Amino acid sequence: MYWGISLVRDLEGKQKVSTGISPSGPIHLGNLREILTGDIIYKSMLLSGKDASFIYLCDDIDPLRKVYPFLPQSYSEHVGKPLRDIPAPEGADTYSEYFLAPFLKSIETMDVRPEVIRTGNLYAEGKFGDITKIFIERKEEVRDILQSISGRDLEENWFPYNPRCSSCGRINSAVPYDFSDRYVYYRCSCGNEGKSDIYTDQGKLPWRLEWPAKWKILGVTFEPFGKDHGTQGGSYDTGKAISEKILDYPAPRPQMFERILLKGKGAMHSSTGINIPATEILDFVPPEMVRYMMARVPPSRHIEFDPESGFLNLMDEYERLIKLRGENKLDEDQMTLLDISLTGRKNDEIPDYRHLTTLVQIYSRDDQIERILEKNGNKYDHDILHERIKQARHWVMNYAPESSRFHILDEESPVQLNEDGKKVICNLMANIKSLETWNAEAIHEAARKAIQQSSVSPSEGFSYIYRVFIGKDRGPRLGFFLEGMERDKVEKRLSFSCGA
Ligand SMILES: [Zn+2]
Repeated sequence: MYWGISLVRDLEGKQKVSTGISPSGPIHLGNLREILTGDIIYKSMLLSGKDASFIYLCDDIDPLRKVYPFLPQSYSEHVGKPLRDIPAPEGADTYSEYFLAPFLKSIETMDVRPEVIRTGNLYAEGKFGDITKIFIERKEEVRDILQSISGRDLEENWFPYNPRCSSCGRINSAVPYDFSDRYVYYRCSCGNEGKSDIYTDQGKLPWRLEWPAKWKILGVTFEPFGKDHGTQGGSYDTGKAISEKILDYPAPRPQMFERILLKGKGAMHSSTGINIPATEILDFVPPEMVRYMMARVPPSRHIEFDPESGFLNLMDEYERLIKLRGENKLDEDQMTLLDISLTGRKNDEIPDYRHLTTLVQIYSRDDQIERILEKNGNKYDHDILHERIKQARHWVMNYAPESSRFHILDEESPVQLNEDGKKVICNLMANIKSLETWNAEAIHEAARKAIQQSSVSPSEGFSYIYRVFIGKDRGPRLGFFLEGMERDKVEKRLSFSCGA
């Protein structure tokens, strides 16, 4: 059974899946696993006939924790302020929207369309008020639960609410000393004294209390999260106890997911700088493929993403499944995996990505590639085809290993061949000239025959052919490669090399 389906099959009643993020910087590939795991679980619920919804919480009232390496030093004055109160590094937006907006646009391309909720707005609307009051009134009980489950002692003056100072704007420097009616009274290290109305965004709950509060306020029943929240005594454990003992609300079904590792570079984490921003992934990975990458393995397995040749192999795997689907050769799990991976765009007919990485190295203009591809009567969705061509170009420019790069030699550029090499090339020229149709299969057969006629081994024979066209011993799949070139040019080059 597909992992998403088996996770949700025993659930009963209305379901709400929730994930979220603290938009403190560029949102990276690792964060995509979080939201896509949520989306895959949500879509598995829909496929299983459940009444389900999916929300994405943007924790824009979280404070800026430090001046990250990508920020100018001037941001030190904003450390401790809610992200939504801080100006964006550029433009007129707020800090949180600046990082969130491009990410939301990217996930929409991947057909991820959760209801996006800004946590700061929930506070402003007073949604946390009643629960905050309960936490304050039952402060000692709450403290006991947090301490006993996390195994960590809280400070003497610990208080279950962090006021936002009305003078300096910081949410981590005001110390509460009293509570009455709906106001928390505080003294701030900046010298200010004031009061926060808990039914507004004049403060927030600490993370370990905010999380269970959100479950109850929003009716969350299922939540995927990273390992950091799922350790023993971690925030899920304390959240579950708080939710059940203080808020009388059953904790959502948890699902931990492993990290995404960038091949050879270790874990992806926004604070290490070793990552690919989520928005950049789509510069070379088709959105269906991003979904597929996350959907093909259960969340408990880590994903090692190799943007170089590993990515191309994964594309091959995905495209093979698409092809098998067209031939009705998939089992139920594979069908579900594809249903979950597709974005609803019609893209079955797109030429394979590997072939495009060859074509973009032969032709510099998209319309030339389009003409070659449609020469045999194939018709493609124009927008998707151009998007793919652009992605393939980006991959070749930025990620292709040396073995996948080539440059076509001019028709008359010098070539050095031994006797065997010359035999292969001259035989190939004759075979090619007699071809009735110009397609990959026929061309490959002509090459195979030429090599046989010349009595050399296949690997030696192919290496002569590649040397003639790209000056290397190996290259892209020969039939597709030569088919992608103009027949006239292929013949001219062979004839020059045979006579050379
Ligand atoms: Zn202050």
